[in-house]
Amino acid sequence: MQVRHLLKDKGGSVVGIAPAASLADAAKLLTEKRIGAVVVREVDGPLLGILSERDLVKALAAHGAGALEQAVDRHLTRDVVTCGLGHTMEDLMNMMTRGRFRHVPVLDDDGRLCGVISIGDVVKNRIAETVREAEDLRVYISATA
Ligand code: AMP
Repeated sequence: MQVRHLLKDKGGSVVGIAPAASLADAAKLLTEKRIGAVVVREVDGPLLGILSERDLVKALAAHGAGALEQAVDRHLTRDVVTCGLGHTMEDLMNMMTRGRFRHVPVLDDDGRLCGVISIGDVVKNRIAETVREAEDLRVYISATA
């Protein structure tokens, strides 16, 4: 399955935060939206980076509770690995495994952000595919028995 098909099912909403926002704002946003990472950009601007719950934990470990007042800009990852609409779930699994991250922003054919795929989306899709394959096999076996 390609990213374009998955986005059709899940929708292409992208939760973003401005680089000048604080880590406390980011923590509130992640909690409110029940997600593990936000893309960093000005309103509707290009992708500047990504900030995940792991970056929050790292900042707290390094700076204590005072980190919550620091800007997102100081703790984001700038070198973001993105994917396109034609990438497959297998491509995404490889990217996530190699890069050791769990979120991949999606860029459309014009280079605009049009979604974010999480490891949860990939696993859910994989399980659905496996169940479907098992069901097809069951039907095939009972038809040929
Ligand atoms: P995650 O596993 O997604 O919570 O992220 C683990 C670390 O990788 C954090 O430092 C993130 O900022 C970073 N990260 C998350 N997604 C990406 C991505 N697509 N490309 C590069 N770094 C990422």
